[in-house]
Amino acid sequence: MINSHAHLDFDDMQAIAQNAVAIVPSVGSQNWNIVQSYPYFALGIHPWMVEHHDSQDLERLEYLIKCNNPIAIGECGLDYAKNINKEKQLHFFTAQLAMAQKYDLPVIIHSVKSTEDVIFLLKKYQKIKGEIHGFSGSEQQANTLIKMGFYLGFGIQITNPKSTRLREIVKNLPLQSLLIETDDHIVPQDLSIVAEEIAKLKQISLKKLITQCDNNAILLFGLS
Ligand SMILES: [Zn+2]
Repeated sequence: MINSHAHLDFDDMQAIAQNAVAIVPSVGSQNWNIVQSYPYFALGIHPWMVEHHDSQDLERLEYLIKCNNPIAIGECGLDYAKNINKEKQLHFFTAQLAMAQKYDLPVIIHSVKSTEDVIFLLKKYQKIKGEIHGFSGSEQQANTLIKMGFYLGFGIQITNPKSTRLREIVKNLPLQSLLIETDDHIVPQDLSIVAEEIAKLKQISLKKLITQCDNNAILLFGLS
């Protein structure tokens, strides 16, 4: 079972074998090195971290992407729920989209209260594919992103009965567009709880759900 988004390198997360099947994204220059000890890592600058980075960091990021073969660029994106300079967020996100296009890599996108702008920008980079991880937009936005060939990732929040809108979106989402993840949840092994809940919502067997989500991750990230 492939965890499409897990910050396994964070200190407060349970120790997990390095060969765990997970996509391990970075959040900025502070963990570009350590994520590379996992077989499937991504390199990027998280929108929460943009104020601690500059154009030199973008140059270094591009150098590492060129030399070290990450499976994706990320995590990058926009977060308008946080009080972080919007221009700076847009600058770093756009720069990383340009790198994804240039090096033909998928992107792992963090988007909170910003999905309209994310869609707007992605339309300018039509060749790019990727994942909107921890999807929190509307059903309409979900459909738009799927049509653009994007995958939507869902995590432990789906198990909360109060997440009614999210649960409805997952229920109606085509299986071919779905990814499962645990993000910064303290127990990455809880991925099976996410899978069970989504299988229940979609009224399919757990096996079918896991097989399809694994295939989606393999296809998107070119895993071998
Ligand atoms: Zn994350």
